[in-house]
Amino acid sequence: MKVKEIVVISGKGGTGKTTFTASLAPFLKDVVIADCDVDAPDLHILLNPRIEEESIFSGSAKARIDEDLCTRCNLCAEHCRFGAIDKTPRINPMKCEGCGVCEYICPADAITLKDVTTGKVYKGITEYGPMVHARLVPGEETSGKLVSRVRNEAKKRAESEEKPYVLIDGSPGIGCNVISSITGASTVVIVTEPTLSGLHDLKRVLEVAARFSGKAYVVINKYDLSREMSEKIEIEAEKSGAPVLMKLPFDKKIVQAVTGKKIPSLAEEELFLSAGWKNLLKTLTAE
Ligand code: SF4
Ligand code: SF4
Repeated sequence: MKVKEIVVISGKGGTGKTTFTASLAPFLKDVVIADCDVDAPDLHILLNPRIEEESIFSGSAKARIDEDLCTRCNLCAEHCRFGAIDKTPRINPMKCEGCGVCEYICPADAITLKDVTTGKVYKGITEYGPMVHARLVPGEETSGKLVSRVRNEAKKRAESEEKPYVLIDGSPGIGCNVISSITGASTVVIVTEPTLSGLHDLKRVLEVAARFSGKAYVVINKYDLSREMSEKIEIEAEKSGAPVLMKLPFDKKIVQAVTGKKIPSLAEEELFLSAGWKNLLKTLTAE
């Protein structure tokens, strides 16, 4: 069975991307859920998975010196382009990029690269299906690899359990994390807001989606806060071949649902239905 990946992204954080992803989860039957927003994972707050497995993720390596073998020749310090080795010689792990030059250059074989923990991956089960999420160790920058790991784990699970959908909460922005979460995905949903910066970010993220994934759609959250800007967003989206699937109005009840850790599409189903929820689901689940 071919697994369909539906990835939800946004041009920047705070547009309601995660809330929208959580809203989709109960309506996609037989789904595996993945939180690929590894820098700020919070989908689990609404979906509340029971963790079944936790594993270490190592996305980078750091150099280590064996002092018993070191002859203090200082070649490593001279060749480290990142200034990570002093004349002692001692390695500053915060500066080490794991490039391996020192290991290569050391005449005494005193340096080796060791994998370091850069994140943790969690596999669990929610009321709506299995879920994979991760957390990056603060200060680590290998999140693109961690995004790929989460996505792959979710896809493998969907394949082994013959589930037709993987629902992915992607990263905001247009960086390598976003590219890792959407590359090769058949369907991308871009959540945006009717502001000038929302329009600006949308243009950039539409370009990324067009380049790295299949069909893209747009959802305008809180569209009635500026109908004029919403119209501009609709025009921009249509121009890029990414139709607006739903315009969700601003409603305090949605905010209250989220703060009460409830899924808005369930807590406020009428509101979602009147905004075109059924049509959106039909489009996203079409072959
Ligand atoms: S290159 Fe090797 S032997 Fe020379 S100072 Fe560095 S660790 Fe020691
Ligand atoms: S691995 Fe590269 S960055 Fe790290 S200490 Fe060695 S030369 Fe410097």
